[in-house]
Amino acid sequence: MSSLFKQIFKQIKKYNNIVIVRHTGPDPDALGAQLALRDILRDKFRRKNIYALGNPASRFKHLGTLDKLEDNMSNTMLIVLDTPDIKRIDGVNLKDYDYIIKIDHHPFVEAYADIELIDDTASSTCQILLEMFLSLNIHISTSVAEKLYTGIISDTDRFLHDYTSVKTFELVTKLLKLTKLDFTKVYAPLYTRPIEEIKFQGYIFQNLTLTENGVAYIKIDEDLLKEYGVDSASPGNMINELKFVKDIVIWVFFSEDIKSNLIRANIRSNGPIINDIASRFGGGGHKYASGARLTSWQQTDNLILELDKICLEYKSNK
Ligand code: AMP
Repeated sequence: MSSLFKQIFKQIKKYNNIVIVRHTGPDPDALGAQLALRDILRDKFRRKNIYALGNPASRFKHLGTLDKLEDNMSNTMLIVLDTPDIKRIDGVNLKDYDYIIKIDHHPFVEAYADIELIDDTASSTCQILLEMFLSLNIHISTSVAEKLYTGIISDTDRFLHDYTSVKTFELVTKLLKLTKLDFTKVYAPLYTRPIEEIKFQGYIFQNLTLTENGVAYIKIDEDLLKEYGVDSASPGNMINELKFVKDIVIWVFFSEDIKSNLIRANIRSNGPIINDIASRFGGGGHKYASGARLTSWQQTDNLILELDKICLEYKSNK
């Protein structure tokens, strides 16, 4: 890893124009990594033009603001964070860039960069960046520390998920020792939710369907979202709440997204591997945490059937 870190910085030094992006529908890890890397590079290389591009996520605007490109730039490097495949890169065309670096913790999907730094044992992309900054002795400001810490706690659900490792704790300990980060202040902006969403959470939990083999699911259409005054991204904010429920092996929330004319699926598993099924339904992700994009309600039934099948296999093998 450390030689890849050095190689990445050697390339960064060569380019005066650098654009940093991440996946569509950004979560705190993707956004935190993007803004932390932008700010650290701006601090270290004051003469370079460094931009963080992509659609903003209003829910996480406390992490910082994204940039806009005024003119097309020539001789530009692109750094893509937290994104294993081209189709999920937000807001840029790879052809416009002279050199591309990928830094990601998702399982490998496709190669698209000149340097591919993939560590699918890392809890988050923020963890990989933290490791890189520490290994290269790069100064980490309190504000960058806050972004990195937010990404790590968000992707691990406060050190709960499987990819949380001794290394995660070691790196976070170093971060806390080296910076003045008050980590207790990070949680409120990240976890405070509108009361409408809590009521909606009540609805979801009341109305879950559980299949015989342990798939819990709910289908949420536009009318229901309107009735509760929440948007189609809201169900995704509560999917992890069902991790410790007896009899639930896999759980999935389907939410209609009228604007994009699709149905989003948030899928989680407590055992069977789900990302290969998700990728067959226009999605992907991690072994136990995936997402998909479906085009009809009929497809949601097909996905439920497939998930139910792997639950049965999983139970039989146990
Ligand atoms: P989510 O349910 O949106 O929190 O996503 C869980 C994981 O699946 C994250 O690692 C996402 O990056 C990934 N994921 C979500 N939606 C998609 C998609 N449409 N295609 C590929 N990966 C996805």
